[in-house]
Amino acid sequence: MSFQCPRCNSRNIAYLRTVMKVGATVGAVGGAARGASTAFAGSQIGATVGALAGPLGITIGRVSGAILGGLVGGVGGCALGAQLGERLDRHVLANNLCLVCGHRFNLPT
Ligand SMILES: [Zn+2]
Repeated sequence: MSFQCPRCNSRNIAYLRTVMKVGATVGAVGGAARGASTAFAGSQIGATVGALAGPLGITIGRVSGAILGGLVGGVGGCALGAQLGERLDRHVLANNLCLVCGHRFNLPT
């Protein structure tokens, strides 16, 4: 990062990740919800593949497909939410803190 304090030109800048954390959490929840539909598709595929191995294979395939789908959705949503949160923190909420003069500022967009 090559930005600096607009008041004292110090490059000693801290970044407060308040919204980024919230964004990551919300994104993870939203992603998991979206992943639920993926999980459903995953369980369908898993059941189809598992059917080759008999009734037990159907159950195992269904469960593992659902877990995988939910996991993928959750991770993707978390990354997306964190990205969005970081943008809000840096450019909107003045969460960049100068460690020299204590000035809080937004990054230029
Ligand atoms: Zn400063």
